[in-house]
Amino acid sequence: MGVHKKSPKRQRGAESPAESAPAAARDNAGVAQPALTTPLRDIPGISRRDADALALLGVTNVGRLVAYLPTRHEFEEAEAPIAELEPGRIISARGEITATRVAGMGRKRRFEAVLCDDTGRLDLVWFNMAFLRDRIGPGTRLRVQGTAKRRGYALQLVNPRFEILDPTGDEPGRADARLRPIYPASERINSRQIGRCVEAVLDIALPLIDDHLAENFRRQRDMPALADAYRMMHAPESEDEVASARRRLAYDELLMLQLGVHLKRAHLRRTLSAPALRFDDATDAHIRARIPFTLTPSQDAVVRDIARDLSSTTPTNRLIQGDVGSGKTVVALYAMLMAAATGHQSALMAPTEILAEQHFLSISDMLEGSKVRVALLTGSTPKTERAGILDQLEAGEIDLLIGTHALLTESVRFRSLAVAIIDEQHRFGVHQRAHMRTHSTAGDDERTTPHVLVMTATPIPRTLGMTLFGDLDISTIDGMPPGRAPVRTRVVGPVKRPDVYAWLRGKLDAGEQAYVVVPAIEDPGPDGPVNLRRLMRELETGPLEGKRVAALHGRLKRDTRAHVMGRFRSGLIDCLVATTVIEVGVDVPNATVMVIEEADRFGLAQLHQLRGRVGRGEKPSVCVLIGEAKTDDGWRRLEAMAETSSGFDLAERDLEIRGPGELFGAKQSGLPPFKVADLTRDLDLLAMARHDAAAWIDRSPRLAGDDETLVRRRLMKRYGDSLGIADVG
Ligand code: ADP
Ligand code: MG
Repeated sequence: MGVHKKSPKRQRGAESPAESAPAAARDNAGVAQPALTTPLRDIPGISRRDADALALLGVTNVGRLVAYLPTRHEFEEAEAPIAELEPGRIISARGEITATRVAGMGRKRRFEAVLCDDTGRLDLVWFNMAFLRDRIGPGTRLRVQGTAKRRGYALQLVNPRFEILDPTGDEPGRADARLRPIYPASERINSRQIGRCVEAVLDIALPLIDDHLAENFRRQRDMPALADAYRMMHAPESEDEVASARRRLAYDELLMLQLGVHLKRAHLRRTLSAPALRFDDATDAHIRARIPFTLTPSQDAVVRDIARDLSSTTPTNRLIQGDVGSGKTVVALYAMLMAAATGHQSALMAPTEILAEQHFLSISDMLEGSKVRVALLTGSTPKTERAGILDQLEAGEIDLLIGTHALLTESVRFRSLAVAIIDEQHRFGVHQRAHMRTHSTAGDDERTTPHVLVMTATPIPRTLGMTLFGDLDISTIDGMPPGRAPVRTRVVGPVKRPDVYAWLRGKLDAGEQAYVVVPAIEDPGPDGPVNLRRLMRELETGPLEGKRVAALHGRLKRDTRAHVMGRFRSGLIDCLVATTVIEVGVDVPNATVMVIEEADRFGLAQLHQLRGRVGRGEKPSVCVLIGEAKTDDGWRRLEAMAETSSGFDLAERDLEIRGPGELFGAKQSGLPPFKVADLTRDLDLLAMARHDAAAWIDRSPRLAGDDETLVRRRLMKRYGDSLGIADVG
């Protein structure tokens, strides 16, 4: 049995597109013909045992079995004379046994046999199958199949499959070369057995499978019909057929998701509207006057996108991506001030209190002396203060509300919320975005919804962006504000820690500031990871003695935290030893060193975010990753960090290392995974599917045409619930 790239679980309970097809037809005699919905138990060629084993894999009927796809194919050579066999191939041969013996002890105990034909000799060995000596002996005629290995002058097959040939009967014909599908198997049923079950239904099932894509549409894209694709997957005649089948089935998966996403978007646009905000040169000048620097060309471009969006009644759904430090906050501020200029409210939601506090401080700073009223609302806002803020919000006496998840609670009511912004969206997951939209309606009209902007620095790889976030428009802030020195990254093993801290001391002596990040606050045990308390002690009494070192973590009280951050910002603290609470948003230009302890414990996105805390000023910065990766993937992450400083490259690398299913967002999204499509390879298919789906929904926004019944049914079956489109139309 082969190694499977995807686990059998992935196909568990998979619905088959083949299923949504006509019900069982009855022939003239009134006997039920098998249909796609016929249980496998009722299929004569499938044993009860196999049917039960398949049921455990979620494969219960004919349609689902056809949709249960091989993860790869193995090429099996045609049967050949022994002299013509080559090592490294899956070969078949037949001949007569000339000698056998049982050898070895314990786990190495094995049954060996020599198989000869007129042209040569093949050595066979089976481990732990000594009982074979009762069935196979000199003179037995045998047909064998397995992967040939070179052993001395002869070829050897280890644990080959075999068939004892009856010397008196007719021998089976020679096996042709074939591509054997390898199915995700289980303890109860192996790939070959699954293959035989598929063979038992394939011929009756294929003619029952209707295609949801018109022939014309397929021909233009050079795609085989659905039934043909299934046939080519299960019983391919060539590698080309496998490729062609894969292409069609992968395209189908991508197209379905894109159709769902576009259908939903068309629906939202049709049924909801957002306040159109005023936008003219005076407003623009007014807003810019509040920003203490000139926007970069790429910030300018994004601001233009946003201004255009917000001045329309079509609800905005825009993703703003820009690497760590690229300057997304002012862009958010711009949108918020557009709302204020038209007399509406706006909200900015951050994933951590520290970040929310920082946004509140810097935005209040920029708005000093203006009429715009800003408030901060987080989980640690005291009760009475909170009650006051809620009242003012409802009365329209607060223009900009900044906060954390606390903004999403039912009691938070706006008088007229026009712009909702989610910062560092990847830390939230997809659901909050929907929540923000539904919960925070402006005014009493249910059809009014705020414009939504989401910001992320953990860039969404292009591919995922197009799938999971397919309903978002995307703006990108390229490059960095002027005057930034690049950050150098070094990876060192734990033995170098003393050197790292000696060097760090030198930097602090020169007046620069540093962060040291650790994975945990407390001691989980003497051999546990480096933690904050222990490291604080070590540094204060060792390499950083006499320096001003302070701890920062999530368990500190809000006031203490604000106090520490304030002192660090104004240079009264040299080195901040922190947990990942500083991962996002913290912005102190004089900090030039980031040391990350146990770096291999962090994900790539996190490491990149942490590194983004330095390199914010004109002095060159350094990021030191201390760690010793325990896994290959761990090494690859650390190497990737050392090799590139671009968040976009890192996100693509992350996708390669972890696979799309593991990425942020992908899991929380609750969308069913793809079975065939592979987002790291199928970029062109994805682009095609996206383009096709957009054009399709443009032409038929409700997917309600007579010829669209099947595609609609299959779409709803797959995504009706997860995309919340079941009742759209
Ligand atoms: P992020 O995209 O990571 O949220 P921030 O919005 O926090 O980045 O910006 C990082 C720093 O860059 C802040 O100190 C901000 O004031 C500064 N900044 C942003 N845009 C510009 C600009 N156009 N010119 C100069 N400094 C800028
Ligand atoms: Mg930010």
